[in-house]
Amino acid sequence: MRVAIVGGGIGGMTLALSLRDAGIEDVQVYESTSTVNELGVGINVLPHAVRELTELGLLEDLYGIGIPTAELVYYSRHGQRIWGEPRGLAAGYRWPQLSVHRGELLGVLCRVVLERLGPGRVHTGHHLVRFGQEEGGPVWGEFVDRATSTSAGRVEADLLVACDGVHSVVRRTLYPDEGPPRWNGITMWRALTVGEPFLSGRTMMMAGHFRRRMVIYPISKRHEDQGRALINWVAELKTADDQPMPRQDWEHTARLEDVLEPFASYTFDFLDVPGLIRGAEVIYQYPMVDRDPLPTWNFGRVTLLGDAAHPMYPVGSNGASQAILDARILARELALQPSIEAAVAGYDAQRRPATAMVVQANRQVGPEQCMEIVEQRAPDGFTNLDDIVSQQELEDISRAYKRTAGFDPETLNGRPSLSVR
Ligand SMILES: Cc1cc2nc3c(=O)[nH]c(=O)nc-3n(C[C@H](O)[C@H](O)[C@H](O)COP(=O)(O)OP(=O)(O)OC[C@H]3O[C@@H](n4cnc5c(N)ncnc54)[C@H](O)[C@@H]3O)c2cc1C
Repeated sequence: MRVAIVGGGIGGMTLALSLRDAGIEDVQVYESTSTVNELGVGINVLPHAVRELTELGLLEDLYGIGIPTAELVYYSRHGQRIWGEPRGLAAGYRWPQLSVHRGELLGVLCRVVLERLGPGRVHTGHHLVRFGQEEGGPVWGEFVDRATSTSAGRVEADLLVACDGVHSVVRRTLYPDEGPPRWNGITMWRALTVGEPFLSGRTMMMAGHFRRRMVIYPISKRHEDQGRALINWVAELKTADDQPMPRQDWEHTARLEDVLEPFASYTFDFLDVPGLIRGAEVIYQYPMVDRDPLPTWNFGRVTLLGDAAHPMYPVGSNGASQAILDARILARELALQPSIEAAVAGYDAQRRPATAMVVQANRQVGPEQCMEIVEQRAPDGFTNLDDIVSQQELEDISRAYKRTAGFDPETLNGRPSLSVR
């Protein structure tokens, strides 16, 4: 079986490794950029996805780059603690939650793809522009090298998997009337700052509420080994509804002043957020977008995976994790089902409804609902949290989201492996 993977991001690379692990060797990855760019800032891989990467033999590599997140703590915009919970191993999972640099994670995945599948399997400078399917026959794709604006050729395969991200060409071709991703009016500024470790040193924290929120966590083992912290932060601000959507480009940078002003009051005794913002070398700007869930990803010998299939708000740390799960289940179906068509149908039946639920839950602000409740009920701060919201209510919010996103500890620890061998 020849599989053409379009897009060498987190989802595409994990699919290549998962297919090989499932005994499917004829796999080619076609990546638009001229090198596999180790771009981005921090990203979280939740225990259900770390389990999959562990079963692919990558845990040691991940420990070598990232931070096993030990706790997640929510604060109000006044820096008052609302809810905290252990995470990863500390929460009883058999696998850690890992905070890593997206580029370093991609670097690990790409290196292992080249080692295991052989060099020459990752074709950079291949931007898919067109694809089609012969009646009862193979799928074809045509590529251009964007750097030179020249043709990069035409390839044939038995299955084409679109892992080409939020601006997927394949999705646009299959759903030509869909239009651009939906913006919820929130601008996200992302950056890295080297600083002192804060709270437990392995804490992920959020402060504020959905319209003015900070998400902060350390992501680098190398910095931790030196007694320092490479701190990933995301500042999110909801602007007026009539503002135009910022450019959707992962390399679009922002001005320091624009980010500092809305978070000037976020000076907490455990962390000086304006200081953190000032310490960044470069700040990236991106709109918070998603898309409506699709009626099908099942196009016979063409299907979608990761952000191409289900772009979601980065709420609850699920984007990369859901792409990794997609990859593992698609590979498993291809190995076990009698035909490619049956495998794609099985993958669609399992993953499309599951990810649609996460997209919808993230629109309802996911587990971060606790911050909304406190902002609504006690905008000026509280003396006693129990007067505002009960511990039970907070616990229910946390547990419900984990169930929706498929990573409550009991289910995850107890379910059989997705590995074929
Ligand atoms: C440069 C970059 C930086 C990012 N930084 C962050 C970050 O800091 N934090 C975060 O949470 N998320 C980040 N993301 C998004 C995050 O990686 C995804 O949300 C998630 O990991 C799902 O992965 P994916 O493989 O579906 O998509 P992506 O990781 O976005 O990968 C899609 C890949 O497809 C390639 N591609 C696109 N179009 C074509 C085409 N027509 N033909 C061939 N290849 C194509 C892209 O170059 C990219 O390599 C970033 C994505 C990119 C592309």
